[in-house]
Amino acid sequence: MTDYVLEPPAIPSVAIAGESARFPVRRIFCVGRNYAAHAREMGKDPDREPPFFFTKPADAVVYSGATIAYPPETRNFHYEIELIVAIGREGFEIRREDALAHVFGYGVGIDLTRRDLQFEARDKGRPWDWGKAFDQSAPIAPLHRVTDGVHPARGRIWLAVNGAVKQDADLAELIWPVPDIIAIASRSMVLKPGDLIMTGTPAGVGAIVAGDKVTGGIDGLGTIEITIGPALGGAR
Ligand code: MN
Repeated sequence: MTDYVLEPPAIPSVAIAGESARFPVRRIFCVGRNYAAHAREMGKDPDREPPFFFTKPADAVVYSGATIAYPPETRNFHYEIELIVAIGREGFEIRREDALAHVFGYGVGIDLTRRDLQFEARDKGRPWDWGKAFDQSAPIAPLHRVTDGVHPARGRIWLAVNGAVKQDADLAELIWPVPDIIAIASRSMVLKPGDLIMTGTPAGVGAIVAGDKVTGGIDGLGTIEITIGPALGGAR
């Protein structure tokens, strides 16, 4: 047994639908601008860009049903509903046609974003981390294991704020579908069990504030729900 000078942190994990055992999270990769209409609302041309990635720390995961503190240092806190891919098998330079064999399961998640900090970083050529990789920035609903080789390639993906639908699209609109994302990511990293990939959000992103209830879902993968709480440290 290794001796540590501090109590080792708990292993971040995500629930699995219908099971008590949990999915241990190793890393979280996120795809930028993977739906054309969202790329346009971000002011970018969706046709000319290969997929790119950013990351969140594993311990940014939050369970569905949680109340999430309004994060510090932002005045433009955004939701982004996304299909989550959970990797169950190691691979490097995975071929597109082999990629789905590396998937453990899928889920519904929200890529919470401090949009003002993201845009400031983007426009100054700085890293996106402060806009994307903050505490509690990755709520993820229980994962659904791949069963009978069925992988979601189409189906409604939606998000509502206080019951009003803000994002409403179909997985078939992904510019880079899941096999491409896995193949491309695995050229740069050895993908390993426990890795999660957030696959990008459709159009309709917007701001949320304390007191908002955010719900969302993907056909066949269930729903997610979070509540935005007061800011850490109280009102300011
Ligand atoms: Mn996103």
